[in-house]
Amino acid sequence: MSDKPTGEKPKDPFKPYKGRFETYGRIPEKGRQPDDIIEELSVMAKEEDAAWKSGKISGTYYHAGEAHRAFLNKTFSFFSHINTIQFDLCPSMARFESEIISMTAAMLHGDAAKDQHPPGEVCGTVTSGGSESIAMAVKVYRDQARAEKGIMAPEIVMPKTAHPAFNKAGEYFGVKMVTVPVDLPDFRVDPKAVAAKINANTVAVVGSAGNYPYGLIDPLEELSELALHHDIGFHVDGCLGGFILPWIEKAGYPVPPFDFRLPGVTSMSADTHKFGYALKGTSVVLYRHPDLRRYQYFTFPDWPGGIYASPTSAGSRSGGLSAATWSSMVSLGESGYLAAAREIMRVAREIRGAIESIEELIVIGEPTFLVSFRSEILDVFHINDFMKTKGWRFNCLQLPPALHFCVTLPQTRVTGLGEQFKDDLAEGVSYAKQNAGTPAQSSALYGLAGTVDGNQQVTELLCGVFDYMYSI
Ligand SMILES: *Cc1c(COP(=O)(O)O)cnc(C)c1O
Repeated sequence: MSDKPTGEKPKDPFKPYKGRFETYGRIPEKGRQPDDIIEELSVMAKEEDAAWKSGKISGTYYHAGEAHRAFLNKTFSFFSHINTIQFDLCPSMARFESEIISMTAAMLHGDAAKDQHPPGEVCGTVTSGGSESIAMAVKVYRDQARAEKGIMAPEIVMPKTAHPAFNKAGEYFGVKMVTVPVDLPDFRVDPKAVAAKINANTVAVVGSAGNYPYGLIDPLEELSELALHHDIGFHVDGCLGGFILPWIEKAGYPVPPFDFRLPGVTSMSADTHKFGYALKGTSVVLYRHPDLRRYQYFTFPDWPGGIYASPTSAGSRSGGLSAATWSSMVSLGESGYLAAAREIMRVAREIRGAIESIEELIVIGEPTFLVSFRSEILDVFHINDFMKTKGWRFNCLQLPPALHFCVTLPQTRVTGLGEQFKDDLAEGVSYAKQNAGTPAQSSALYGLAGTVDGNQQVTELLCGVFDYMYSI
């Protein structure tokens, strides 16, 4: 958002193809040759791929293997035209999705729930992404509390660092999201502060494994106890970490329990389209018990169009995505996920080391695959300005200002990336020192948020960007 066009010829970052290719405001009268279209798209794709292939882009693209992507595309193509909602016509969908759910549940220690009291039976659904997984869990807790406890003004308590998908779901479903600040110095939520926000309307609490800003795992053991004590739901957002933390743990790094091993955890989200290395457009939401999942299903029996039912908020979905997700999991296997996690941790530790070697920078918490840092002396947005000129893309954090770099597989494929990061970062720090006192380019927007007026201004800007994006 804060990218300002630079260089002599100002290029519009949202519309770089304007003028280069035909702009279609309406369906062309005569169709174009497929080969011609493929040629045009391949040019666009090649240019856009160059950025993440450099290994300098935080997160964004998760798998670096062209062979893996070609394989997924092939598995997608067999079922691209299939509608997952038509389980009866396409029993392949029942196979793919039930097995995706079962494999994910097993990875997240769903079996542990069987021995807990009362015994659980972890189940779930495949969704279109992390936001939908989270939205479904929010709806489930709202509906469960309404049906079983008569709660009509539901609230969910979560750390301030939880993903905005929760706020979005709260807005959509009429659930009040109550946020709790995270504490310095370790940037984790204080369970006592969470407890203080729980009242008679609280239907669930949320924790992340790990959270998006800092990649950190909330104090989930304490939150689990809290949820049990108050007899409320506990959703662990593993959208980001769900498919990598199990393997980081297996690789021998210290990772606290974050899944169904914790008896208070009643639901989890884990994104197959992030560290599951599947194609974009799938995620898994898991519940401790089928009774909870029932609150997610939508049924509408008396419709002239027939008896209607859908398990998630989506209607039709492409079966290709479920086929590709299943294929990703089965082809990589435990050994593939473990090897990927080892590689990612190798690079993440180099990056952490580089940051720690600079006195002015402070690594936030105890990171694993995602490393974030701040400074009490320098403007980290100056560092970001400089790093951008070297091709690096961090994610800018605010409140307080910080930067994060999420390591995915592309970073592990570039030899000497850690060294390059270290050198560039040192230069970035010098740049920040030289420019102290001047406003950083990157902070143009981030300086605004945090106050009522500022938030309003940012909202106007963002909505304007969307409007512009959808204009031709
Ligand atoms: C990505 C992410 C989400 C949302 O997932 P989408 O797939 O983008 O909808 C939720 N929580 C965390 C921690 C995430 O990183």
